[in-house]
Amino acid sequence: MIYSKMNNTTTDIPTKIDWAAIRAQFPVLDQEINGKKLVYLDNGASSQMPKSVSDRIDAYHKHEHANIHRGIHSLSQQATDAYEATREKVKNFINAGSLEEVIFTTGTTDSINLVASSYGRKNFKEGDEILVSEMEHHANIVPWQIIAEETGAVLKVIPMNEAGELLMDEFHNLLSDRTKMVAVVHVSNALGTVNPVEEIIEAARERNIPVLLDGAQSVPHSKVDVQALDVDFFTFSAHKMCGPTGFGVLYGKKNLLEDMPPYRGGGDMIDKVTFAKTTWNDLPHKFEAGTPPISAGIGLGAAIDYLTDIGMENIAEREAELLAYATEKMSRIDGLRIVGTSDNKASVISFLLDGIHPTDAGTILDQQGIAVRTGHHCAQPVMDHYGIPGTMRASLSFYNNEEDIDRLGEGIELVKEFFG
Ligand code: PLP
Repeated sequence: MIYSKMNNTTTDIPTKIDWAAIRAQFPVLDQEINGKKLVYLDNGASSQMPKSVSDRIDAYHKHEHANIHRGIHSLSQQATDAYEATREKVKNFINAGSLEEVIFTTGTTDSINLVASSYGRKNFKEGDEILVSEMEHHANIVPWQIIAEETGAVLKVIPMNEAGELLMDEFHNLLSDRTKMVAVVHVSNALGTVNPVEEIIEAARERNIPVLLDGAQSVPHSKVDVQALDVDFFTFSAHKMCGPTGFGVLYGKKNLLEDMPPYRGGGDMIDKVTFAKTTWNDLPHKFEAGTPPISAGIGLGAAIDYLTDIGMENIAEREAELLAYATEKMSRIDGLRIVGTSDNKASVISFLLDGIHPTDAGTILDQQGIAVRTGHHCAQPVMDHYGIPGTMRASLSFYNNEEDIDRLGEGIELVKEFFG
């Protein structure tokens, strides 16, 4: 049992979650790096995996492995059931309308490429506009550039202010009859900004423009309900939510997915193949060619079980607490500047130290066992906005604690001493 509940007469309220016990479920955190206890603050790049998830993947490899969707034998059926159980879990986790709307991919990048390539090739033409924002990860820029070049469509960019917030007046002005797609990050990986996606979707809806949300950094940290959002496409990656690498999800509204041509051809995605003509499988398989990473899919199912057990609301609350603690602590460090200061932020702190290159600082932190990200975070336009080469980024997860943040603070002081 992860948390204790207080019974009051009207409702069960979780009162106390044992976060230390939760942290202990992540074996990777219990080690020394460069002779110091590991402080892992690179969760935005990839989160760590609890033992229950790695055990589940291990059990599949030891006892259940077989190819899926094609075998009549029992082991294949068992593997198929385990893999398809994840689809049901994803559906419930994000509140998709049906299993057909849950497409398995290799991750957010693959999911966005699928939509850009399949939807874009069919629907974009010369002069059409694709609206992205200045704070996109490259995964939500480059696929659109590729399809724009192919179709003659053009990319338009919603600018942001110095706090790292989208300029919503500019967004509304940019929407026009030429806009054929709005593709925006839900939570910025480089700045932590939580974007006003409800307003974006509502405005696009009025003009019948589809919206894709890059949810790589939102799904792991808060409750997402795609039907409540009324979003058309939503993408995320398993490895950022306590699951394995090589697996992810594209949610799409059924009517849109049904209209889209296949993205890749091969086994599983077909109904009937002849040399004269091939017909496609039904959703969701139409977009799932070839043997997928089966164990990773089963691992995502276990990760969703794990997160659901703790409760996404509890995770969001704990991470908000850690963000507030870290922001307060880091704001007091002389010569430290936080990049991305929106009031509405997820648990990411990008920062710079006066006169010290982020890579140099990151190296000294690593020597102290502190893992932060340094560089442009695959968001070069964000760095261009601020006229900087990159930042250091501490991205927090619910299994971090105040001690991790204190260690980061001490580490930063050492960096400053080192560089005089
Ligand atoms: N979008 C955002 C906001 C991200 O943070 C990332 C990864 O850092 C991606 C997309 C790409 O995710 P993946 O590499 O898992 O495809």
